[in-house]
Amino acid sequence: MSETFVYDFADGNKDQKELLGGKGANLAEMTNLGLPVPPGFTITTVACRRYLAESVRPAGLDEQIDAHLAALESTMGRKLGDPADPLLVSVRSGAVASMPGMMETVLNVGLNDNSVAGLSAQAGDNDRFAWDSYRRLIQMFGKTVCDVPGEDFEDAIHDAKTAKGVTDDLHLDAGDLRSLVETFKKIFAKHTGHDFPQDPRAQLDLAIEAVFRSWNADRAVLYRRQERIPANLGTAVNVVAMVFGNLGADSGTGVAFTRDPATGERGVYGDYLANAQGEDVVAGIRNTVGLAELERLDKKSFDELLAIMATLEEHYRDLCDIEFTIERGKLWMLQTRVGKRTAAAAFTIAAELVAEGMIDLDEALRRVSGAQLAQLMFPRFDLAGDPTPLTRGVGASPGAAVGSVVFTARRAVELAAEGKQVILVRRETNPDDLAGMIAAQGILTSRGGKTSHAAVVARGMGKTCVCGADQIDVRKDSCTVDGRLLREGDVISIDGTTGRVYLGSVPVQPSEVVQYFEGKLDPGQVHDPLVAAVHQIMSHADSKRRLLVRTNADTGTDAARARRFGAEGIGLCRTEHMFLGDRRELVERLILAATDGDRNDALAALLPLQRADFVEILREMDGLPVTVRLIDPPLHEFLPSLEDLAVQVAVARERGEDPGNQETMLVAVRRMHEQNPMLGLRGVRLGLVIPGLFAMQVRAIAEAAATLAAQGRNPRPEIMVPLVGAVQELETVRAEAEKIVAEVIGDAGVAVLIGTMIEVPRAALTAGQIAEAAEFFSFGTNDLTQMAWGFSRDDVEGAFFWKYLELGIFGISPFESIDRDGVGRLVKIAAEEGRAARPGLKLGVCGEHGGDPESVHFFHEAGLDYVSCSPFRVPIARLEAGRAAI
Ligand code: ADP
Ligand code: MG
Ligand code: MG
Repeated sequence: MSETFVYDFADGNKDQKELLGGKGANLAEMTNLGLPVPPGFTITTVACRRYLAESVRPAGLDEQIDAHLAALESTMGRKLGDPADPLLVSVRSGAVASMPGMMETVLNVGLNDNSVAGLSAQAGDNDRFAWDSYRRLIQMFGKTVCDVPGEDFEDAIHDAKTAKGVTDDLHLDAGDLRSLVETFKKIFAKHTGHDFPQDPRAQLDLAIEAVFRSWNADRAVLYRRQERIPANLGTAVNVVAMVFGNLGADSGTGVAFTRDPATGERGVYGDYLANAQGEDVVAGIRNTVGLAELERLDKKSFDELLAIMATLEEHYRDLCDIEFTIERGKLWMLQTRVGKRTAAAAFTIAAELVAEGMIDLDEALRRVSGAQLAQLMFPRFDLAGDPTPLTRGVGASPGAAVGSVVFTARRAVELAAEGKQVILVRRETNPDDLAGMIAAQGILTSRGGKTSHAAVVARGMGKTCVCGADQIDVRKDSCTVDGRLLREGDVISIDGTTGRVYLGSVPVQPSEVVQYFEGKLDPGQVHDPLVAAVHQIMSHADSKRRLLVRTNADTGTDAARARRFGAEGIGLCRTEHMFLGDRRELVERLILAATDGDRNDALAALLPLQRADFVEILREMDGLPVTVRLIDPPLHEFLPSLEDLAVQVAVARERGEDPGNQETMLVAVRRMHEQNPMLGLRGVRLGLVIPGLFAMQVRAIAEAAATLAAQGRNPRPEIMVPLVGAVQELETVRAEAEKIVAEVIGDAGVAVLIGTMIEVPRAALTAGQIAEAAEFFSFGTNDLTQMAWGFSRDDVEGAFFWKYLELGIFGISPFESIDRDGVGRLVKIAAEEGRAARPGLKLGVCGEHGGDPESVHFFHEAGLDYVSCSPFRVPIARLEAGRAAI
């Protein structure tokens, strides 16, 4: 027997998303909960993958569809496309992860020139309804299955309305729609070269294949890349008996949430459209009414819907969103899923469900993410300056965005590429606007509510969005608001929390959550439910995590802030900035020194400056470890450029002037010039080549520690040697450093650890030897990634990463998220061999990856002791370290 490709709704459940897709699995779950779901069946993602690989329907699929269709026909008492009494079905995409509006669905499959009369009879001789359904089929089928341009159909509808002198689709009568069907058939034939297929079963097969193929539509590919959804999963296809919301005033269709997806508040949220079919709501084609209005229109269905929503919340223990249709007073459930939500709602809903006893704190922690916390740390508008209000819409996705307006996705992409901040202003968005939405700072629409395409997609991306600002009249390349004209380039500010839109650029202020982390809000007195939720979940993460979180900081101010954000030390204190600014001259003197005496003078002048820096940082981190990295970057970064100098010297000569000092400098710079400075004289190599340089830094650290110890404080410096590849390098530096530390600190009772970065692949591969001379390792995963892949991290991203992403060689840049298989393997080898050679060896990571959620999980698994990241990412790393541990 061949593989099972088709499942009846009664045979699946919500945990089979990989096989049945999210929509199919949840339709099955609702069916089995006894909820009113129209009968149907699901074709698996496996069938889709096979079809995409082989370009034909896999063997056995047709027979299985035959059998399930026959069963459906007998349940419904109707045959697909039967001229006298047709069964119609929808053919719906549904992938594992929800990809709102990215793929295709065809409704009303089974209608043709004959069955249209049968459908009318079924509906009590409702010809208008039957012809409207038929024209919808030709339109959706044409667009989806045969790539007929959608505008041609839309233009034809527009022309029909104009000819009749009406503006609303509802004013087209049966005769108008019947001739529209004729027009649509001509459009179809013109673009495809053949007639609209009349055989219902052929329609079904073609629609199924089109849904399979829609997995690889451009916008679906783009969306997956943006949301980091793997490219090889495929979609399931759901074949569902049609129910009709377009049968008159007692019918309709809508969407609903069990809680507010923007704030998490409980209540009745949703949109309803009477006398309409599915797509009309999401597309924002007509203005919907609030769901509460349904209570007035159809109390029985409304009550039933609320009861079902309560059942679903209880069952899924989470916010659910829902699609439903009412056919002549009978409610049908067409979809549900655990709903997308804003970052703020994710935290408040999780905390509320804990309070309601529905989930425990571990589960609450699983339901939030570092990426969401990062969003809550975005700034908000500071309204103290009374900005000029422009208009107001629905706050659909929170955040504060400022930018110049653009009216097409294409312009948004072009201007963003020039580095401009733009706000995409549209009547409504559709999936073709995706690239523009990604490029824009924020999105503003004049139509649609919280469930419109713009709102759903923006929330998913964490992008600021205001929608349904209906005072805005949006045209092709301008818009007007209350008579005020805005053209491309005019600046506005949009607030995705309140829905307010301001003219000009409004200043922004820190978020409540940041103020809480800063210690400016006392958690005991917090009334803001969001801050209370963050406090509760963060505290739980802290109690669960095994990884410590340190920060990367080179100044006292950064160190202090990071400590307020919960940093448990400094994992990387870079010393190079201590050589810049007005100290540059001293560094030049050091490098140009002709004699030992000159060099020692320059070093002696640098010593007190460095010491003062370290005193400040160690004081802010009193009692916590501070890892100071000895000077790392190539020396040329501190010197004038070779080209500039050469020109200056040549010009001076030409004029018969004495180039003086510049001449000496030019000689030195030329001597040190390297083709590949990143692979050249830097890190430990500098320390080995320039006598006294590392010694001066070590002395500054030791003296700072001794000073603080003498004041009764508890400094805990750790000296870190960069770019080591062989234990001999480290031994040489270590011998000198130990001597200086002993001499300066004596018996002051300060322990100074000496360790190394592991950032050259050879260091990782000889970690056992290196550990003999190191009390700690800190993985410098930026350099380690650069050297493991052979990618220059300063150049690659623009030059060819796009191709690697396109080819799926990696799903995300290995500089952003750790490459587990390659670079991660080096980390694991070094951790294992290092600890084998020296039990108790401290292990940390100080590359950018320390603040990346995915990477934090990896470092937890690899058994490191801590991660270190920039101050603002400290809370994110704490949260993710907690999530990794449960
Ligand atoms: P999407 O994933 O883009 O929401 P859906 O497959 O859910 O696409 O279908 C698009 C629209 O058609 C939705 O509004 C849905 O409720 C409606 N719809 C789908 N199947 C049926 C059906 N059998 N009867 C009535 N409406 C349907
Ligand atoms: Mg849907
Ligand atoms: Mg490095």
